[in-house]
Amino acid sequence: MNKRIVVYKTLSPALLERLQQHVAVTQVDLTASDGLARLREVLPGAHGLLGASLPLGSDLLDLAPDLQVVSSISVGVDNYDIPDLTRRRVMLTHTPDVLTETTADTGFALLLASARRVVELANWVRDGHWHKSLGPAHFGTDVQGKTLGIVGMGRIGDALARRAAAGFGMRVLYHSNHRKPDAEARHGARYRSLDALLGEADFVCLTVPLSASTEGLIGARELALMKPGAILVNIARGRVVDEAALIEALRDGRIGGAGLDVFEQEPLPADSPLLRLSNVVATPHIGSATHETREAMARCAVDNLLEALAGERPRYWVNPF
Ligand code: NAP
Repeated sequence: MNKRIVVYKTLSPALLERLQQHVAVTQVDLTASDGLARLREVLPGAHGLLGASLPLGSDLLDLAPDLQVVSSISVGVDNYDIPDLTRRRVMLTHTPDVLTETTADTGFALLLASARRVVELANWVRDGHWHKSLGPAHFGTDVQGKTLGIVGMGRIGDALARRAAAGFGMRVLYHSNHRKPDAEARHGARYRSLDALLGEADFVCLTVPLSASTEGLIGARELALMKPGAILVNIARGRVVDEAALIEALRDGRIGGAGLDVFEQEPLPADSPLLRLSNVVATPHIGSATHETREAMARCAVDNLLEALAGERPRYWVNPF
């Protein structure tokens, strides 16, 4: 047992035990007040890192000259400078596939909650306002039979398209870097330019990774192209949307509402104007947050890390060299 790893996310006892059979494990609690200082202390000598939600900049990587692998418990890899890791010959691995269905469920939950005003009206009942049967002021909008526009037809986009077409009889449009003949054949999805999709969809769901090409992809111009009353769902990353422009479009009633799981700043500050808008459903980045899926992601990350340290090619290697 000569390899040392640092784990900076809570693992189940079973996974921790599995790791400890192969490598020396140091755990760091990044939620503790001295968490980051403790991480800096243990980085020298670390061969592997396993965790999530921590931007790993060169200031931290410089402290870990022996590092061979960063195993991220996430599919998104926007917290990492991939060219820098490759230059250092540090493998980066991630956990796609196991979270696809759960994240698509989150997208649909936000879509339905926004369309049917579930959170707003549940709070209204809780606050004691339900004294007589409802009128049009409290009606929502139908989902079934409407048009869903998916921006980013990858794994999660495809799972959303399946739900929309098979479960809700929706017409599915999509925009991606490349056309997806499989999704077209299986879900009847139609390719559109981004502008055309925005102009035709009743619901727009974002499922692109955050990258230089997607940062600010949806700004004031794009929001203005959306159909009046359309609903935006973001389960990708907050910075894919210009949040200030979104707040304006929601305030002005330019669009009907938004279901948001991700934000420019997370945790979302309590004074965010988004939280004062009744047509916003905001969830705390729960895309993959179920017991089953988080355990499956952690298992996948452990496998990736052990494969990398054993000198094998990890299955989910982001920056092969
Ligand atoms: P994926 O399979 O790689 O799909 C991403 C899709 O986005 C690809 O099909 C890609 O198109 C498309 N794309 C990339 N850049 C684009 C651009 N500039 N314009 C249009 N389309 C573009 O990834 P995934 O597994 O579905 O995950 C997608 C993202 O969801 C992750 O990166 C992560 O940020 C986010 N996510 C969030 C949560 C959450 O908790 N809310 C959970 C899981 C994932 P091509 O295939 O044509 O290149």
